[in-house]
Amino acid sequence: MNVNQSVPPVPSFGQPQPVYPGYHQSSYGGQSGSTAPTIPYGAYNGPVPGYQQTPPQGMSRAPPSSGAPPSSTAQAPCGQAAYGQFGQGDVQNGPSSTVQMQRLPGSQPFGSPLAPVGNQPAVLQPYGPPPTSAQVTAQLSGMQISGAVAPAPPSSGLGYGPPTSLASASGSFPNSGLYGSYPQGQAPPLSQAQGHPGIQTPQRSAPSQASGFTPPASGGPRLPSMTGPLLPGQSFGGPSVSQPNHVSSPPPQALPPGTQMTGPLGPLPPMHSPQQPGYQPQQNGSFGPTRGPQPNYGSPYPAAPTFGSQSGPQPLPPKRLDPDAIPSPIQVIEDDRNNRGTEPFVTGVRGQVPPLVTTNFLVKDQGNASPRYIRCTSYNIPCTSDMAKQAQVPLAAVIKPLARLPPEEASPYVVDHGESGPLRCNRCKAYMCPFMQFIEGGRRFQCCFCSCINDVPPQYFQHLDHTGKRVDAYDRPELSLGSYEFLATVDYCKNSKFPSPPAFIFMIDVSYNAIRTGLVRLLCEELKSLLDFLPREGGAEESAIRVGFVTYNKVLHFYNVKSSLAQPQMMVVSDVADMFVPLLDGFLVNVNESRAVITSLLDQIPEMFADTRETETVFVPVIQAGMEALKAAECAGKLFLFHTSLPIAEAPGKLKNRDDRKLINTDKEKTLFQPQTGAYQTLAKECVAQGCCVDLFLFPNQYVDVATLSVVPQLTGGSVYKYACFQVENDQERFLSDLRRDVQKVVGFDAVMRVRTSTGIRAVDFFGAFYMSNTTDVELAGLDGDKTVTVEFKHDDRLNEESGALLQCALLYTSCAGQRRLRIHNLALNCCTQLADLYRNCETDTLINYMAKFAYRGVLNSPVKAVRDTLITQCAQILACYRKNCASPSSAGQLILPECMKLLPVYLNCVLKSDVLQPGAEITTDDRAYVRQLVTSMDVAETNVFFYPRLLSLTKSPIESTTEPPAVRASEERLSNGDMYLLENGLNLFLWVGASVQQGVVQSLFSVSSFSQITSGLSVLPVLDNPLSKKVRGLIDSLRAQRSRYMKLIVVKQEDKLEMLFKHFLVEDKSLSGGASYVDFLCHMHKEIRQLLS
Ligand SMILES: [Zn+2]
Repeated sequence: MNVNQSVPPVPSFGQPQPVYPGYHQSSYGGQSGSTAPTIPYGAYNGPVPGYQQTPPQGMSRAPPSSGAPPSSTAQAPCGQAAYGQFGQGDVQNGPSSTVQMQRLPGSQPFGSPLAPVGNQPAVLQPYGPPPTSAQVTAQLSGMQISGAVAPAPPSSGLGYGPPTSLASASGSFPNSGLYGSYPQGQAPPLSQAQGHPGIQTPQRSAPSQASGFTPPASGGPRLPSMTGPLLPGQSFGGPSVSQPNHVSSPPPQALPPGTQMTGPLGPLPPMHSPQQPGYQPQQNGSFGPTRGPQPNYGSPYPAAPTFGSQSGPQPLPPKRLDPDAIPSPIQVIEDDRNNRGTEPFVTGVRGQVPPLVTTNFLVKDQGNASPRYIRCTSYNIPCTSDMAKQAQVPLAAVIKPLARLPPEEASPYVVDHGESGPLRCNRCKAYMCPFMQFIEGGRRFQCCFCSCINDVPPQYFQHLDHTGKRVDAYDRPELSLGSYEFLATVDYCKNSKFPSPPAFIFMIDVSYNAIRTGLVRLLCEELKSLLDFLPREGGAEESAIRVGFVTYNKVLHFYNVKSSLAQPQMMVVSDVADMFVPLLDGFLVNVNESRAVITSLLDQIPEMFADTRETETVFVPVIQAGMEALKAAECAGKLFLFHTSLPIAEAPGKLKNRDDRKLINTDKEKTLFQPQTGAYQTLAKECVAQGCCVDLFLFPNQYVDVATLSVVPQLTGGSVYKYACFQVENDQERFLSDLRRDVQKVVGFDAVMRVRTSTGIRAVDFFGAFYMSNTTDVELAGLDGDKTVTVEFKHDDRLNEESGALLQCALLYTSCAGQRRLRIHNLALNCCTQLADLYRNCETDTLINYMAKFAYRGVLNSPVKAVRDTLITQCAQILACYRKNCASPSSAGQLILPECMKLLPVYLNCVLKSDVLQPGAEITTDDRAYVRQLVTSMDVAETNVFFYPRLLSLTKSPIESTTEPPAVRASEERLSNGDMYLLENGLNLFLWVGASVQQGVVQSLFSVSSFSQITSGLSVLPVLDNPLSKKVRGLIDSLRAQRSRYMKLIVVKQEDKLEMLFKHFLVEDKSLSGGASYVDFLCHMHKEIRQLLS
């Protein structure tokens, strides 16, 4: 039965709720209109409203408050809910999958045929617009690759039948020498028995494909949209996914029969046996069909892999593992968008796997936290630690407590329980939530986390209905929603005192380098207008945040900007060894009150230091000063540090240049990531105690020891920005854009986060930008809407399938207006006794996020090679366990991947070959430390695109098309020299121009008459009034708007020197630093798995 249907619609929260007067809607964080205009909430599709839309300069920018403030009446988070189920122990939480199946819009839970093969979008995309069926046919028939599209087939049963019935043509890969002929392949030693493990993998091709292209005999109805020719987003063969809620569309009928897979090559998707009889088996590997030839490309790149690209009409020599036959990230992303991007994700059902981060979807909170707040590596946890150990799948949650939401979604409601404060379990201190079970007519409740029976205070009493649910359940966010806030009482405040509003202190390096580059002048000019846009709350007219200013080189200058002064006053502190704040009154001021004095100061600073010869700087004393100022003002706050050089002046925290690339690949490599002195950690600890968050903007011309300088930002929940060789002309836009966003973003201060779990599991490890002084409390001097905390869980007891597992993340923080609040996120997960259920409910993107963070922390203490080996081993164990326990018995030569993890190898390879774990010659020590630090608090969407960049073809879709251009796999062989591509990874943005791009296109975009006249390295496209120019510039803007940092554009011409830079991001290829190609890595992984199995 579908539990969702058992609950009647409930009143919305927007309706008058006399029950508790203090209940109003928070404007914190979520609503873009208020204070945080940029909203990179992970969506790839289309532009997001945000900062980028506002004019870049000064006063013309729309104030952050211009957006509509969140309306408390518009939100109606509850339509039909199924909340009650969790609290009632005995609910019908049947197999989650069944429930999920029923939720699927337009899906055919059981009937939809698997189309494991033949659905790689890569087939379509490099060639542009949606192919007609005829085109597809032509391409396919020209390729002669097995595994493509077999129309024929036993229509029924395949989806359900035991996989063994599929095993057939094991001879698909007759040739054992394939690997050697693979141009780039440093073939990993292959096992002797079967020349090429990777290739032998998939067998049973025909039948499974067949099922992919024929409607199931008894299957459900076809989706209407699939009966016609392919639409742009569709791929033929629609990918099916084993997860019920990923069920794919049926294949289009358009595919003509006759595209026989006669070739020897195509690896076919193995399928594992369905674990639950009666529903479709989890699709494995998804080895797709091959692409057609790419006649245009390849020759200029002799070194490039040529797999599949030159095939032409004659049969390919059966020697290579076809890249098209291995799981494609593009295809998986595309499929998920098509299958899950249309209906809101409703959180009422326990253990549902959300759509991918690359899919644009809305969320309806019906009792569990939105995936924007929490994503898990698996939504179905093994019941026992033995099972968990066997599977080796890390159990982790990536939590973004203050995540920004799209405008369509409501921010968490704020519940005010008055002086009594939020209701909690007496024993474990968990907060009231939808999973608590009320008993004894409503007089008591049993804690869902620790089972303790608690009395319900009289003021909170309410009767229960016949199902045992409180009759006011849907009037109270804390009884019906996954996420909400409580107003905290004074008991939750430091020193039992309500906090003062926070302060921002701008601390500007005015040494020679900062002046010479024009940085100081630029910054001061910008601050004059930016200060009008400090974060504010709700409908507040002005920000409650006070500001202060410090400049420094090897001494510090404090400024009195009290409103009563005619001119600012400077006070110099040269005793940096014992930092104190020389003034209290007049240092932190309200912007509006002191506007004239502040403006005067900002005008004077660049002049005052214009002739400076001072090149030395201090660093620790600067932060110390800011922290002491906050302490004296008894408030939390944030320091914005603008710093240019290695702090070599005599002072605490003085550093020496210890950069030594020779340490790479030695046991001492880890020291490159460690701070060179303990002074920074000590300082950070003091900052955390004060609620002093530090954001660091670096403008280095050479080594500045990012590993050490970033310690304080890292431990205080701050951010680091780095602009190497900063020049105003080239880097102004990027810096100002980052600065504006950073200053305006809503921050929670002086925060503590605790994650509670139900009996059986507990949080054991944490990753992110924060400090911990004990094993449970994550302390964050500041936390913004971009930052995540990743939590790993381990078993400490047996879990129960019926009751599942619960997480509750509670974040206590001070809002921008100085209000003390608790934000609560709850999430219920399923528990399983069958490993297959674990593998069916995993999320690879989250897994990779966790594994990358784990590895990036590991390099602090272990040799990098050991870290890499650990990742590879773990991945092999995960996949081997699946192979052994969940996949059907079949030839050992087959590589069988769980459907939900079929991208694990490609993504993991990207992590392994990333700059931190396998640096190339061009990456600096500082950059490695910088990236390492960035990844630590990235969310899942950010790590996804960071490790596997997005590559978009610009000329293959009609110019008038408003949808995002087709994505292409990140490999050189996917590039056509007649096309142009945008590549982005959240930090970098390239426009690659093929040498044979049409002259008209060149003219339209660059306003020059030929390819050779395009300036390589260009960072701004000319503003031209033609559709192509508008479209490309618009696309660039929209990509930037989706990211938390401004991406500077670099135009790269084919075969130009800069191209090496670009190729670094083609992550499916072998890298210059020795990173394996995807194909090679998959083969290697297969070998590892076979070793584990034998
Ligand atoms: Zn409890």
